[in-house]
Amino acid sequence: DLSHNIVLYLEGISVSFDGFKALNNLNLYIEAGELRCIIGPNGAGKTTMMDVITGKTRPDTGSAWFGQTIDLLALSEPEIAQAGIGRKFQKPTVFPNHTVFENLELALAGERSVWKVLFAKLSPSQIARIDQVLETVGLKDHRSTQAGSLSHGQKQWLEIGMMLVQEPKLMLVDEPVAGMTPQETEKTAELLVSLAGERSVVVVEHDMDFVRSIARTVTVLHEGSVLAEGSIDKVQNDPKVVEVYLGE
Ligand code: ADP
Repeated sequence: DLSHNIVLYLEGISVSFDGFKALNNLNLYIEAGELRCIIGPNGAGKTTMMDVITGKTRPDTGSAWFGQTIDLLALSEPEIAQAGIGRKFQKPTVFPNHTVFENLELALAGERSVWKVLFAKLSPSQIARIDQVLETVGLKDHRSTQAGSLSHGQKQWLEIGMMLVQEPKLMLVDEPVAGMTPQETEKTAELLVSLAGERSVVVVEHDMDFVRSIARTVTVLHEGSVLAEGSIDKVQNDPKVVEVYLGE
């Protein structure tokens, strides 16, 4: 039964803002360990979809399940994060006046009170977890660097690290390579590919070359529902998709 491999089910999700349907009967199924790219023109509903998954926006209709048992529509935003769904927004929101290590420490603690967190003593296993994340995101040599002096790319990796210390089962990543150099983009592609497998990763991205370099399955949103889904070649050659992008 394939449904046992599904970590995220969105079924018949609709969201209206003043009568305008930002999401219109959206269905989305994400498998365990999958790296999925979501594309679509501006206004397609990508952000609203992420907001529904994280509990920021409540749908008018539909159901949203995390794994077999967790009804996302019954949980608050913090409860959804606690359940294992992490999100990274497009703009980095690191603490610029704290070191890379301290940023990860704050993320691990859930960023409640900065001073309380930074004066508390970490357990050896917490330190090991942070060091492991530093290694994963390639910031080992920047452990003591002030986050504010990192490059744009490094800040984005730190933020991915801040999500990783919380050990999410599903990571939602919004436009990770916007503003990155080609080298940073390549490193980010490798990082996201390496993160999928142990967890599911959903990436919203406009950069089609980047999407091509990482995605096995691409979902195209348009007017609040799925217009096409499949390999990048399949969706890029789909006449419906071509029409939507040419009309942009
Ligand atoms: P995307 O991320 O794909 O660009 P969005 O989810 O941001 O699309 O937006 C989908 C549509 O819903 C857009 O037309 C947008 O203007 C509208 N919308 C999004 N959020 C709100 C809101 N809070 N109030 C009113 N309209 C909104």
